[in-house]
Amino acid sequence: MYDIIIIGAGAAGLTAGIYAGRGGMKTLIIEKTFAGGQAATTYEVDNYPGFDETVSGAELAMKFEKHAKKFGAKIISEDVKEIDVDAKVKKVITSKGSYESKTLILALGATPRELGLANEKKLRGMGVSYCATCDGAFYRDRVTAVVGGGDTAVEDALFLSRFCPKVYVIHRRDELRAAQVLQEAAFKNDKIEFIWDSVVEEIIGKDGVEAIRIKNVKDNSEKTLSVEGIFVAVGIVPHTDLVKGKIALSEQGYVETDDTMQTSKPGVFAAGDCREKILRQVITAASDGATAAYATERYINENGV
Ligand code: NAP
Repeated sequence: MYDIIIIGAGAAGLTAGIYAGRGGMKTLIIEKTFAGGQAATTYEVDNYPGFDETVSGAELAMKFEKHAKKFGAKIISEDVKEIDVDAKVKKVITSKGSYESKTLILALGATPRELGLANEKKLRGMGVSYCATCDGAFYRDRVTAVVGGGDTAVEDALFLSRFCPKVYVIHRRDELRAAQVLQEAAFKNDKIEFIWDSVVEEIIGKDGVEAIRIKNVKDNSEKTLSVEGIFVAVGIVPHTDLVKGKIALSEQGYVETDDTMQTSKPGVFAAGDCREKILRQVITAASDGATAAYATERYINENGV
């Protein structure tokens, strides 16, 4: 019987592991792919406190993993198939076995929705980005494009306009779904140009993005824009299939928590990108993980589990 089982070894899960292990809790972290989560696939991170020299996402992720292990968290590589969140003792069934725990922390992560274009995966980190606040500073003095019409896309465009001489926003309709206040700020920003009713058909470039070919969906006309960066902001997909119907999720499928990371089920906590919140970065994932581990320990003590 574990005190805490953490599902997911991204920044949130590993930080929860650091805090739980350090607090003397018997801790198991289950990860289906590799430790580090989205951070591990981020080319460079230059906004994580303490790393004033840019650090690669992979290196930062390795440090998180090493740190969690140092305090005794056990990390195993298995695919979680089923969880029982209703009983007092929580059960986790994986591809290889089953585990019991007094509490659970769901650090399931999320993935940015892709456009599904041919060159998109190949040029990820080389001009294709899914996070302007993470990567925008690398595009200083370069022309960029943002795809999408939601809050993220418009916020990304505003953020990029601090560094870039020109930012195109390419949206598939002729009106934005972003909040009015963001729309107003973007419309009066000289560096931002909206391209309406348009979709990206092709990302052009060999070792980096050189241009994008876009198509107007109303008249089918096409044009090519020279850009060195394309920021895809067409929503993200939380990895919450495992808990659908078991705990409360927001309309967009994120786990609902209170500010102690407690979900709708007692003893089940959530942390990181799978959680409903406004900023999804390594620092906020780590913060969630720390809070969740602390709240979990308190839950065990207060409920005599
Ligand atoms: P979103 O609200 O789901 O918007 C996604 C945008 O991408 C929409 O404009 C959508 O077009 C477009 N889109 C979706 N699939 C596409 C595709 N395959 N090709 C081209 N365009 C596509 O996602 P989000 O902007 O990331 O926001 C997610 C949630 O976080 C929202 O609830 C948002 O309010 C919240 N958020 C809040 C803040 C804030 O409060 N400051 C900041 C960021 C995000 P359509 O409009 O035509 O559907």
